[in-house]
Amino acid sequence: MSQPNCSSLWASTAAPDIEASALQGTVPADVVIVGAGFTGCAAALAMAQRGARVRLLEANVVGWGASGRTGGQVIPGLKFDPDEIEAMFGPDLGPRMVNAVGSVGDEVFGLIEQHAISCDAQRKGWLQPAFSTRSLDLALRRCDSWQRRGADVAPVGRSEMARLLGTDHYLGGWEDRRAGHVQPMSYVRGLAGAAQRAGAVIHIDSPALSLTRQGAKWRVSTPQGAVDADQVLLATNGYTDGLWPGLARTVVPMMSFQAATIPISEDLGKSILPEGHAASDTRRLLWYFRRDAHGRLTMGGRAPYREDLGAADADYVRNAVNRLYPQFKNTPFEFHWAGRVAMTQDHIPHLNRLDNGLWAALGYNGRGVGMATLFGRYLADLASGVPAQDIPFPVTSMRPIQGYPFTRLVARALVSYYRIRDQLEAV
Ligand SMILES: Cc1cc2nc3c(=O)[nH]c(=O)nc-3n(C[C@H](O)[C@H](O)[C@H](O)COP(=O)(O)OP(=O)(O)OC[C@H]3O[C@@H](n4cnc5c(N)ncnc54)[C@H](O)[C@@H]3O)c2cc1C
Repeated sequence: MSQPNCSSLWASTAAPDIEASALQGTVPADVVIVGAGFTGCAAALAMAQRGARVRLLEANVVGWGASGRTGGQVIPGLKFDPDEIEAMFGPDLGPRMVNAVGSVGDEVFGLIEQHAISCDAQRKGWLQPAFSTRSLDLALRRCDSWQRRGADVAPVGRSEMARLLGTDHYLGGWEDRRAGHVQPMSYVRGLAGAAQRAGAVIHIDSPALSLTRQGAKWRVSTPQGAVDADQVLLATNGYTDGLWPGLARTVVPMMSFQAATIPISEDLGKSILPEGHAASDTRRLLWYFRRDAHGRLTMGGRAPYREDLGAADADYVRNAVNRLYPQFKNTPFEFHWAGRVAMTQDHIPHLNRLDNGLWAALGYNGRGVGMATLFGRYLADLASGVPAQDIPFPVTSMRPIQGYPFTRLVARALVSYYRIRDQLEAV
């Protein structure tokens, strides 16, 4: 029996779920995938299109993890500027990585078009407004770094930013026109449906409980069945459990909290994000916001690490709404929800080779709508025999974080510290 999904806006307003049932009995496959979020569903789709026999196992329902709870912002790039990525990874891999992370909009919106996925997709750009003079410099440097590589980005001055956002809270920033947003639960269900049509078999209510070698095959066992396969792809991100010892210790899960207002009347809402942008600001504990297809304002930010976050924890996002859009001060929130964002120590998403025929992709550091979709395809490439050096990202062994419990405590203490730094730095 699946755990109930949190009462996210997306779960409540999504396109219909796919038909799927729990795994029963022992079945053969070429590849078994664990986790039905963007990573697992994109991998299942790519493998099935190549003619592989695919089984996808999900402990709950499709999109139950971060993918059905995200802000749905499709944002190219990582925490690092293109210049920094090239300096870190060298003249061969660096530029290929920059191209890859810059292409996630094409990847996501291309799949949506190709498979006619109905998910309120809007490719109208993303704004990164700066809340302090220091962060404005960093934002403009990042914009310049992309612009020099021919990306469709531009700096945005203070008054234009105020017009595009409908608030004069920010000092300016930049716009990335390769970006956009999707209804994420509809998108992940759409990927799952496309994978099924291509021949993948998806099982919900099917937690993978053990992963063992059986001769030349891997066996993944669930409460009522097992899959024997040549290749295993782990796509469990911030919800990674003990299935493969040590993998959960390669990421630090942090909570992100979102709330959505009731639909805002056309008259009151017409000046808020009038051109349909998504936005996330330069705060260390960023505020991210957008409108949904029904005119609701959604606002997200970091939250304390608890699974049972609820309405009483909405003060942080309520404060953000009040600061940006005081006219909505008394507008009720209709939905609030939270989920795990998987952070890595090096701030780079990880593609891991764990053993022969055993791969994992995780740690998107809050940029997973695009990156997880892309990494799903890379997992499929690796499982299909594409050499690791042909993947435009490092394929590494698993490196659990040293002193993990301590790291988790430090990461959570950093949230409080960053909050204070943001308050001090704001103009
Ligand atoms: C609140 C929030 C807001 C976010 N906003 C954005 C945003 O606006 N833009 C952006 O780019 N990124 C955003 N992110 C990050 C993004 O959502 C994630 O990086 C992305 O969804 C990860 O996808 P995934 O498929 O790798 O993992 P998930 O979607 O988390 O899927 C993992 C799945 O694995 C399943 N699972 C775990 N263990 C097992 C097991 N043993 N057996 C079977 N199944 C198992 C879980 O049930 C889960 O469904 C946000 C994240 C959160 C939480």
